[in-house]
Amino acid sequence: MKTLLEFNIMFEKALLDIKNKGLYRRLRIVESGQASKVVIDGREVILLSSNNYLGLANHPKIKEAAKEAIDKYGAGSGAARLISGNCILYKELEERIAEFKNTEAALVFGSGYLANIGILSTVVEEGDLILSDELNHASIIDGCRLSRAEKTIYRHKDTRHVEEILSKNKRRRILIVTEGVFSMDGDIAPLPEIIALAKRYSAMVMVDDAHGTGVLGKKGKGTAEHFGIEKGIDIHMGTLGKALGAYGAYAAGDKGLIEFLINKARGFIFTTALPPSVLASAIKAIEILEEEPHLIKKLWENRDYLVNGLKSLGFDTMGCETPIIPILIGKAEKALKMSDGLFEQGVYAPAIRPPTVPEDTCRLRLTVMAAHTKEELDIALKAFEKIGKRLNII
Ligand SMILES: *Cc1c(COP(=O)(O)O)cnc(C)c1O
Repeated sequence: MKTLLEFNIMFEKALLDIKNKGLYRRLRIVESGQASKVVIDGREVILLSSNNYLGLANHPKIKEAAKEAIDKYGAGSGAARLISGNCILYKELEERIAEFKNTEAALVFGSGYLANIGILSTVVEEGDLILSDELNHASIIDGCRLSRAEKTIYRHKDTRHVEEILSKNKRRRILIVTEGVFSMDGDIAPLPEIIALAKRYSAMVMVDDAHGTGVLGKKGKGTAEHFGIEKGIDIHMGTLGKALGAYGAYAAGDKGLIEFLINKARGFIFTTALPPSVLASAIKAIEILEEEPHLIKKLWENRDYLVNGLKSLGFDTMGCETPIIPILIGKAEKALKMSDGLFEQGVYAPAIRPPTVPEDTCRLRLTVMAAHTKEELDIALKAFEKIGKRLNII
């Protein structure tokens, strides 16, 4: 039998290995509320890494809605939804999401991670086939594993590769799963082509729109709105904790799918319901998307300004198409140095390393927000120029 000491030595060795590869991760402490500037580890910095794209995480109306829900329903939900945690606010939120996504029904999950493992492990099973984009999020990868279906990975956004796999594999059930907006590259999935192929080969389509919801399309309805797609996505998944500023996630689709998930998805069944304040925040956020479309416009103006600035300085922004702006660096150590240098200049842009992104594609992953002022973006660009030159990146 191993002693605790022996286990600790094993952990320490593994950690040393992680450190030697430049892959060590540590938590930073955020001491202020979510805004365009935050205090991190005691220093005020311009925040360029939050998914709070529209500033809804600290919108006054949303904070107010959350407080009212606490007064009325309490702080916690006390149980899973199928037991006694299904607060009436869920009903309102799910109706709003279904309307927002133009589907028959919707189901709210505890988080995007839970939604992906819950949905994927339920809609396909052993003997079925999943086609998954090579850059899909870790929660999709884990959901595929839990499903026990066979998984084939297609090259990023490569619909010829999708067709090749479809034409060679006949199964009872086939599912193509992709992110709408890719979370680390900021590019957009070729949904019209994927949907056409799915139709031809009788496959289902699932789109994870964690970064499309509230960001893409004039009304912020996501990647489907961006392409003008009304039919063909069987399972819409999206999160409430990014552009919508709250927490949780949803699946939206036909009534049959939603009822099936309620009855079978373990990531839905075996977890405590969200607090009422979070549900109220999400309801208000969807309302604000309708009432304040200028937030989406401002987000995209800021996005264009920052991308153009970075490109003219000579940075490689990897063909990004959205407010997610990757800056390709390569090696982990250099990406860390760039990030540390920027932090000293008052700009927070963390380095993204494996296993989040493939080896030697380490990058800074910036996200721009509607709340950034032009002055803040100019300060950030100056810092990028200074540190980028110092490290011979530009
Ligand atoms: C963030 C994210 C998730 C997970 O959502 P959480 O609500 O943070 O658990 C899932 N998929 C993608 C593409 C994401 O970016």
